[in-house]
Amino acid sequence: MAANEEVFKKVVSHAKEFGFVFPSSEIYDGLSATYDYAQNGVELKNNIKKYWWTAMVQMNENIVGLDAAIFMHPKTWKASGHVDAFNDPLIDNKDSKKRYRADVLVEDHIAKIEGKINKDITKAKKRFGDAFNEEEFRSTNPNVLRRVGEIEKIEAQLKTVQVNEDLVAFKSLIEDLGIVCPISGSKNWTEVRQFNLMFGTEMGSVAGDASTIYLRPETAQGIFVNYLNVQKTGRMKIPFGIAQIGKAFRNEIVARQFIFRMREFEQMEMQFFVKPGTQKKWYEHWKEARIKWHKALNLGSDNYRFHDHLKVAHYADAATDIEFNFPIGFKELEGVHSRTDFDLGKHEEFSGKKLRYFDNDDNESYVPYVVETSIGLDRMFLAVLSSSFNEEKLEDGSERIVLNIPPALAPTKAAVLPLVKKDGLPEKAREIMKILQYDHICAYEEKDSIGKRYRRQDAIGTPYCITVDHQTLDDNTVTIRERDTMSQERVAVDELPRIIGKKVSLKNLFMDSVVSV
Ligand code: ATP
Repeated sequence: MAANEEVFKKVVSHAKEFGFVFPSSEIYDGLSATYDYAQNGVELKNNIKKYWWTAMVQMNENIVGLDAAIFMHPKTWKASGHVDAFNDPLIDNKDSKKRYRADVLVEDHIAKIEGKINKDITKAKKRFGDAFNEEEFRSTNPNVLRRVGEIEKIEAQLKTVQVNEDLVAFKSLIEDLGIVCPISGSKNWTEVRQFNLMFGTEMGSVAGDASTIYLRPETAQGIFVNYLNVQKTGRMKIPFGIAQIGKAFRNEIVARQFIFRMREFEQMEMQFFVKPGTQKKWYEHWKEARIKWHKALNLGSDNYRFHDHLKVAHYADAATDIEFNFPIGFKELEGVHSRTDFDLGKHEEFSGKKLRYFDNDDNESYVPYVVETSIGLDRMFLAVLSSSFNEEKLEDGSERIVLNIPPALAPTKAAVLPLVKKDGLPEKAREIMKILQYDHICAYEEKDSIGKRYRRQDAIGTPYCITVDHQTLDDNTVTIRERDTMSQERVAVDELPRIIGKKVSLKNLFMDSVVSV
């Protein structure tokens, strides 16, 4: 854990030093839980969006896009249940004055027990070597079994207090588990209270309740209120989906984990409208499709796991998280939710407008059910960045920091580097830049030794460095250096667009990732 926290700190400072992520309004000491994406960050972010949009919208003829406004009619949030139920339970430690989410304190406690189980397993692995059978160990070792039982009991208790919204019992649970504040080390807790996560603001010049509007806490509602508009104008037949990428805002109680939990963040959501009764099938379909999309990036298939919700939200009949192994542990990256007809049903009720679908095949009309996939763009960014960050010891004893970002997502695809700043090499390098720039973000660098320039490109994850030397002027060839292997090859300039294009194409990912509907 300590080692991973160390890695996390390194990733955060690397992100700043190399122009990926800055604290927002840093000259004023920043604004908590708000970040700006810098020159390399914005490219990585755009590429992730493109990967998602292409997989969802371009590759599925029955999924279309939408870009709804952030501001919505206030009744939207009454109907969706957010005004009344979009709460997190909070608790303060009286000694440190630090505020926590009560459920997260309990979940962290469970993670500690899981950590102990993993320690036992690592120890046993060392002791038994090749003969070790993890499955057998898990199902027979008394210590592991006791701890699993402990976890199950706590999970059941957590579920009960959450479902019953019993805040007094919530506090007792925290006390009974002996949970201490990580800062003060004390158990001096306040009562547990509910806290609504929506940011409200005033629209127009007249203050008062009627004009209070909210910054959307999820993009999904923009899709629901447009469901019929899109269905009619797009002549969409069920099942079909609407996809959207956009900002969402939540007044998070605790936001101390860099871009993992922000108060302003971006979501990539897709609502898939299905016939009632078929939602289970589509829920399984989207679980599979989404995990494939993730795994195609090759960030390590062991880094993903499903975590089914103990307490499904007020709108869902099944829900799972795709968790990723961040340096801060396995945490939610994406949610797949079977939202029933809750949202459309509520919008019918509150708006008085029919949001039904007439099924020509079955000659019946119904409110469609919805299966949603919802991924945080910023969390996806963090997943890519943190798992790509590598400190390598090279054969000659030197070290390099390299971001092994999947080439299709890398901010800069190629750097063009004249070996020296004279003899016509810069001019030739500029010519090559011109050829490549039509298709890719490329960098041009002539300052410092070639070795230093390679390192700088490694540190931002550029898949290719192209070096222009004196031979280039004679035979129109260059050396092309590959980021991960550092191998170099002499190739014709005319070959560059093909070589680079092939390597960085999103197509490579789609071969493995797309499950069409
Ligand atoms: P958490 O339990 O971590 O608070 P959630 O279950 O409330 O997340 P959802 O409402 O399912 O999250 O939102 C869908 C996705 O949006 C999440 O999987 C996550 O990737 C992203 N997300 C949610 N809240 C934030 C946030 N504060 N900062 C960044 N991303 C977020």
